[in-house]
This record gives sequence, structure tokens and C-alpha cells, in this order.
Amino acid sequence: HAPGHFRTMLENSRWQGEKDFLIYEDERISYEQHYRLAATLANRLVEEYGVVKGDRVAIAMRNYPEWVVSFSAVLAAGAIAVPLNAWWTAQELAYGVSDSGAKVLIADGERAERLAGTGVPLIVTRGTPQEGTRAFDEVLGEVRADVTLPSVELSPEDPATIFYTSGTTGLPKGALGSHRNLGQAPMTVAYSLIRAVVMAGKDPSGTTGERRVTLLTVPLFHVTGCFAVMTGTMFTGGALALMYKWDPLLALQLIEREKITGMTGVPTNAWQLLSHPDVDKYDLSSLTGISYGGAPAPPKLMERITNELPGRAPSNGYGMTETTALAINNSGADYARKPDSIGLPSAVVDVRISDPSGAPLPVGEVGELCLRGPNVIMGYWNKPSATAETFVDGWLHTGDLARVDEEGFVYIVDRAKDMVIRGGENVYCAEVEAALFEHPSVDDAAVIGVPHDELGEEVGAVIRLSAPATPEELTAFLKERIAGFKVPAHFWFRDAELPRNPGGKILKTRLRQEVLAL
Ligand code: ATP
Ligand code: MG
Repeated sequence: HAPGHFRTMLENSRWQGEKDFLIYEDERISYEQHYRLAATLANRLVEEYGVVKGDRVAIAMRNYPEWVVSFSAVLAAGAIAVPLNAWWTAQELAYGVSDSGAKVLIADGERAERLAGTGVPLIVTRGTPQEGTRAFDEVLGEVRADVTLPSVELSPEDPATIFYTSGTTGLPKGALGSHRNLGQAPMTVAYSLIRAVVMAGKDPSGTTGERRVTLLTVPLFHVTGCFAVMTGTMFTGGALALMYKWDPLLALQLIEREKITGMTGVPTNAWQLLSHPDVDKYDLSSLTGISYGGAPAPPKLMERITNELPGRAPSNGYGMTETTALAINNSGADYARKPDSIGLPSAVVDVRISDPSGAPLPVGEVGELCLRGPNVIMGYWNKPSATAETFVDGWLHTGDLARVDEEGFVYIVDRAKDMVIRGGENVYCAEVEAALFEHPSVDDAAVIGVPHDELGEEVGAVIRLSAPATPEELTAFLKERIAGFKVPAHFWFRDAELPRNPGGKILKTRLRQEVLAL
């Protein structure tokens, strides 16, 4: 078969043989076992379910090893893998199933119950199969050592995946990625790592020469988990430790027990790990790299990692579902020097800051971040108008406002949809949040627009404190750091954590509704 698609990566991974690939609780799956399981399941999908090239097969599970096996199997069969969000309700899952037109579903027990009404053939793992469904192990049957991949002609331009966007700004959109996009994902990471290693003398993904064990802290159904971490691991022959769900205490235990070398996830993961009351009780000496991305990282996070876990290499990556994970990355000495930047584009990614007409803006000016490169997806599944709006003349319009400095470093200013317009002045929530984070008593903060008769919108902040502070104190603190019109006129204090999606992003629409209803 032609090289340049997932089957090549899967076959190459077999050279790792009996080395651990997937670690889950006390289960261990080696590279060879993973290959055999995936190849066997791929054949069953073809023979028993009639799956042919281009068919969609949806996966709805927590981070079990079977997620990875199923993903590999679907792609090896030439079908399109559709990872569904495990946090979705029955209704949301039904949307994913019908939107993608999935021919077969592979789910864990809990998701299988929610998928029961869809009428699509269902394969169930980690649960009791209901009527009309089949058990994963039963479908697999005998797993032979001499199993080969089903024969199918694939080109790198064939579609491989439909990942749903996080739905932070609206209904999740299915991002259609090709085999080339997928094959590019570990390369985009690698291109950034080259610079990171040079700048830091250390690999922020935690490779320590002999062994590399990465702790996966985010769901596999988002691109950070699947591409930046899982395929990145497969590509480098490391091991991947999975957790049913993110839990900072379990993470501390796993780092000690499995001698984790690198941890990759969203900023919240690293923040919660450092903040855990028992952090000092665990031996974290194996952990050499901490990388995160996918959501704005408080600049204080980098400082905390440097001070509280000295000698580690933090790294902040920017990416989207539409860029097959990483696109821009900041690590090592770069990150220490410019902690508020998301860094430099990966060597294969083009960056342009555009004005509303799409024309490029000069250095320093704020506009929409647009990206181009081999990791940018083909378009949205089933959404021609969203595709036409977002992918213009080969450029992906990210919906993020950004600027670039004289050295090419990119700074995310805000999401275009989050920006508050106060009496005609743009207030970037992310800037106000960053200033709030500098206050020692602020544990978490979200800035939102509050309707105002005269100004249109006024600035409001929802804050979770770690120690007492008054609105007056915070106002005075902010006035020394940002212009007066950006300082929030309203403060709401919460004891509860701010609502975040599994990608670590604050759900501002929900937060706005909640606080405005008070
Ligand atoms: P939807 O498109 O459905 O509204 P979403 O944009 O949150 O959801 P994702 O593709 O998971 O879905 O997230 C991409 C977005 O995450 C980017 O557009 C950007 O706003 C944000 N983001 C990613 N990485 C970073 C980072 N390192 N710093 C700041 N923001 C980031
Ligand atoms: Mg988006």
C-alpha cells in the first residue's frame, strides 16, 4: 500500500515488539499485542460488519486501552474513525451518531446504555452487552500471531477521522481529517520539540533517552489526547499510562508507581497537580517534562512549575481540532523569556494575522489568527457553510484574536467571541484574567461581558479565591496593571470550581447565564 497513512505508522510500531504501549491500572498491552488486537478487529469490521473504505465507525468510551485498539482498527480497515465525546448525554451522542452516519459503534458499558436507542450495530466493552449488541472480546474471537491487516487501497488524501470540536462557542462541528493530517500530527510535535530540546536542553514531553512513559490526563476523544499524546507515543515507541478520568491524586500515585517521565494535558491538570495537598508526599523525580495546551494557560503556571518542580521543562502548546492538535508551541528558554506567548509556529505551519477583510496585518497589530499547513484538516463534515466561512483560500480562520511580535512569537489575545466591547473599546478577557491571576489570592478567574444600557457591555469577573480579598482590593490591584476601562465593574465570588469542559476551557456562556441570573 502507498505510504503516508496510518497503516504505515501501525505497522512500524510493531518493531517495538513486547515493549509496553498501553498501561491501564494493572493491565499492560505491548506494541505487538496492540497490533494483533487492532488488526484482528479491523478484519472483523470488514468481514462481519461489511465495513468498507470511507464508512464511519464511532468510538464512545473513556480512556480504556480498547479506545486505542478500536481507533487503530477502524483506520486500518480504511474506515473513518469518529471519536465521540464520552461526557455527552444520550441526546448529544445521538447527534454524533446521526451527523457522522456511523455504520458501527464501539462503546464502553456506560456509553452503550446511552447509545441503545440509535439502532446502529453496537460492540460493547467493559459492560454487559444488551440485547442486539455484541461483546468486544466475542467480536475479536481468536487473536492470532500471524494476523495481517485487511487489504485496502488508501492514499494519504483519504479521510481518516472525524473529531468533534469542543463546542465551546456553539454546536460541536465534525472536523474531517485525512491520513496525511494524522501522519503530520506527530511531526508537528516533533518539529516543535526539536526547538524545545535545543532551547531547554530537555524534552518537555519527557523523553529521557532510555524510556518514555507519558501520563495521559485528557480524553482521547479530543485531538490533544489522541494526536499530540497517543499517536506521538506510538511514533516514538514510548508507553502511555491511561486514567479512567483525570484525578490529581491518582496522577501523583501513577507518576511514582509507573515512573512517568512526561505529563501532557490541559493547563488545569498541571495546576491541580501542583495544588494538591499531598504533592510533597510523592516521588516525582522521574517527571522531567510537563506540557500542556488547548486552553489559555495562566502565566503563573509556568512560574509555579519552575519554582515548585525545579528542573522540569514546561511547555505550552496551541492547537485546535482543526489543526490536528499542535500548531504553535512555547518551551524552554523561550517560555521563560516570554511566558505569556504561545510561542513559535511549528516548522510546517504558516501564521498570518488578518484584519476582518482577510488582509494581513503588520507585526504587533491584533487581528484574527489564520493558519495554513499540512496538519490543517480538510473541512467540516456535513457543514458546507461553516467550512466555507472557516477555510478561506487555503487559510484556516481560527476565531482567535492574536498578535505576533518582532521575533515571530504569537500571543493569543482572546477568542473573538469572548471579547467584551465596552462603549466601543475592546476589552480582551484573557488580558484581564492574566492580571487577576497575578494576585496571590486568586485561584481561578473568568472575565465576561455584562449587558449595560449605556456602554453596551461592562466588564465582569467571576473569581474563586484561595484567601480572602475584597472587590476594592482587587480593583486597586488591577488599576496598577491594566487601563481603567478594562477593570471589572462587577465581581462575583464563587466557592465552587468554575465550570469547565473536559478540554479545560471555562464555559463562559454557561457562567454568564449563571451569574447574570443571580
Ligand atoms: P468550538 O470550536 O466547538 O467552539 P473549541 O474551539 O473550544 O470549540 P477546540 O478545537 O478543542 O474546540 O479548541 C481550540 C481552541 O482552544 C482554540 O481556538 C483556542 O481558542 C483555544 N486554545 C488552544 N490552545 C490554546 C493555548 N495554548 N492558549 C490559549 N488558547 C488555546
Ligand atoms: Mg473552535
